[in-house]
Amino acid sequence: MFPWLEKPWKVWLDTFNSGRVPNSIIVSGADGLGKKTFARNMGSLFLCENPKPDGYCGKCHSCLMLADGTHPDALIIGEGENSTISIDAVRKIGGLVSETPRFGVGKLVIIYNAENMSEAAANALLKVLEEPVGRVLFILTTDDIHRLLPTVLSRSRILRVDSPDFESAKAWMYQNISGDLPNLRYYYRLCGSSPVQTLHFVENDMGKYLDALITSFREFLGDPSAAVDVLDAIDAYLAQAASWLHDNISKPDVIYRLFYFCLHDVYARKVLQNEKASLILGRISPDNPLMRLNGETIVRLMEDLQDIRDPDGAIPSGMLRLRVLDWLNRAAASF
Ligand SMILES: [Zn+2]
Repeated sequence: MFPWLEKPWKVWLDTFNSGRVPNSIIVSGADGLGKKTFARNMGSLFLCENPKPDGYCGKCHSCLMLADGTHPDALIIGEGENSTISIDAVRKIGGLVSETPRFGVGKLVIIYNAENMSEAAANALLKVLEEPVGRVLFILTTDDIHRLLPTVLSRSRILRVDSPDFESAKAWMYQNISGDLPNLRYYYRLCGSSPVQTLHFVENDMGKYLDALITSFREFLGDPSAAVDVLDAIDAYLAQAASWLHDNISKPDVIYRLFYFCLHDVYARKVLQNEKASLILGRISPDNPLMRLNGETIVRLMEDLQDIRDPDGAIPSGMLRLRVLDWLNRAAASF
């Protein structure tokens, strides 16, 4: 088990062992922390025919079938990352919940990415929650709890999975990384503070391309004629990312985030006078052009960045190149 899951697992164990298991639990936390496996493990304990004080047995029929995906008393919904959860899927839940469990232990419904539930589906789910038949547990996972209906929230216990701080994440990541990665902190930020995704990022050689991009941007700050090197570094980064295609990190939007973090860091240091703010560009000397910008200009450049925002990767790469160039020129004109 990932070390950052130990605490929420303890909370779940205590709840389970107290015998006061609610009908619905929302497992909430950032993307990439292992919430799906965690939810399945929670379900294993709930359905286990021979639970131990520290967890499910892993050997009984129930445990084996749940691991296989063949458990007749369990339903797992919403595995596709962006698929909406249909009202049909929710009807299936109604069917399962109204039957007597085959194994007599209880019935389990896991809904991944519960934020993708339509309002109609959520309302159908509420109906089931209001009239549970027998021992039923719903486990909903989400990385965006604010998109869940308040009525679903109010009928559920929330189990939070917190992202580990960078030092703990780093210790875990270095168990799987050889060598020293000076920019690991920035990879971690770009990967949404997910140790698992950061590790994938490193394993797919993305760090090398990001380092080159950071270097070229740093050089551009001293010499605005080097803008084309930044564009080339972006192209190289995106080409590598395309061969890997990770939902969150390979999209061109990461370019937006990188520049945004740069400006955000400078703003925190200069305007908010936060000496502890880390700097994605490393130690910034007082004569760095970014440090000469006033707060208003930094905010304007951050707003201008919206033009290169491309969360769906829908902007053709030539167009993205032009927009980035335009933004770099606007930045250079402000120095
Ligand atoms: Zn078991």
